[in-house]
Amino acid sequence: MNRKTKIICTIGPACSGLETLKAMMLAGMDIARLNFSHGTHESHYNTIEILRQASLETGKRIGILQDLCGPKIRLGRLDGEFTLESGGLVALTYGESSDDGSLPVNYPHLVEDLAQGASILLADGLVELMVEEKRSGSLVCRILNGGVVTSHKGVNLPLSKLRIPAFTQKDEKDLMFGLEVGVDFVAMSFVRDEKDLAPILEILADQQKNRPMLLAKIEKPRAVESLDNILAVVDGIMVARGDLGVETPYEKLPMMQKRIITATRKAAKPVITATQMLRSMVDHPRPTRAETTDTANAILDGTDAVMLSEETAMGAYPVEAVRALNKIALATEGEIDYEKYMDEPVSPLLAPIPAEITKSACSLSNDLGARCMVTITSFGYTPRMIARLRPQAPVLAISDDESILRQLQLTWGVITVLGPEISEQDGMLEFVFNTVRDKDLCSEGDKLALVYVNPYDEQGKENVIKIINVPGILV
Ligand code: PEP
Repeated sequence: MNRKTKIICTIGPACSGLETLKAMMLAGMDIARLNFSHGTHESHYNTIEILRQASLETGKRIGILQDLCGPKIRLGRLDGEFTLESGGLVALTYGESSDDGSLPVNYPHLVEDLAQGASILLADGLVELMVEEKRSGSLVCRILNGGVVTSHKGVNLPLSKLRIPAFTQKDEKDLMFGLEVGVDFVAMSFVRDEKDLAPILEILADQQKNRPMLLAKIEKPRAVESLDNILAVVDGIMVARGDLGVETPYEKLPMMQKRIITATRKAAKPVITATQMLRSMVDHPRPTRAETTDTANAILDGTDAVMLSEETAMGAYPVEAVRALNKIALATEGEIDYEKYMDEPVSPLLAPIPAEITKSACSLSNDLGARCMVTITSFGYTPRMIARLRPQAPVLAISDDESILRQLQLTWGVITVLGPEISEQDGMLEFVFNTVRDKDLCSEGDKLALVYVNPYDEQGKENVIKIINVPGILV
């Protein structure tokens, strides 16, 4: 059975060996995420080499996602554990360390930018503080929810207006490295609005060949408000629930996730649901009921991909976690109400002709019970336009460009195949028939729906739909 939901795995010490990566690929990993909050260029380079080797040995096409660190605010260095008692007071100061019993934070404008009453969350929201008094050089905070913190834990300052560029100097250096080694996706952290994306878009605009797809991580309340403007300039979205769930009231996260997924899907761009999908599998070989249900619900919401973080990077069961996602996805996809997507009006943000042609193709494919939809694509645009409507049949994307195929590994329902040069129209149909038979997608007499641009390489001008009965093999 072909799974339609894509699986992203964060690579870390628990899974960076060749054999584990191969096992994860065979279990269903589609994209490898490298988290640039950790590691050096040398360590990431080595990981990419091993990933490419594992991909070669398993025959599994794997996209590489570079996740830029962004301006993550963190605690400085602490001497061991620091206990915060609920109801007590604690002082926060700017710096890498402190010797006066205060908690050091690496944000230089900490005291100026936080108002009295502002909320501060430490260690993924475990500890909650409120600014009670501003003094020269420090903030005195009431501990609303106590706990234990250690060095370099994350600090979230929800709703405070911060003077901090979303694209840092470190991000720029890391991006240059990513472009050099040929990553397929680059994800930008802590985006607030479309203006934050301008510097990275400028660098990517100079990238002639193999431009990575730009993904915006939605993890700030302001980004949720600016989603339409952000969507207009990026190639995809990550619902980064780790930070989003800390920066916004947790009870609002489920509906926010649904809205972000729907808006991104309707814009024909891939969307990832990330963080704590199977968190308990860091320590246990089976997911909890809540985790299996959460993953299934993200799929029913219309996510393209689900992402594993510490489950694969640091957990005891990285391969089992991938297997679990694979099983949950397969069981859930059988229950999707595919027809409901056909009832949606076409988004005014999409080019009307390709939007209507791909909608008709999906409708024909569903109504006629086609076993497979086939697209011949130069830029990945047509399969993404089709995938936005979540057709029942798998979508075969044939391209002559490996980097486009690796990028399509992120798109829901798409099976990628390297084909002949797209300008070579002769023999393409024969190639299609052979491929669908080889991949067991269709047998003789099955219908397939073919959608392509004529001529093939004019982006965004789909104008041909063919419904074809697959012929038998000529002997
Ligand atoms: C998140 O916050 O959910 C996320 C994916 O970002 P990171 O893990 O880089 O903090």
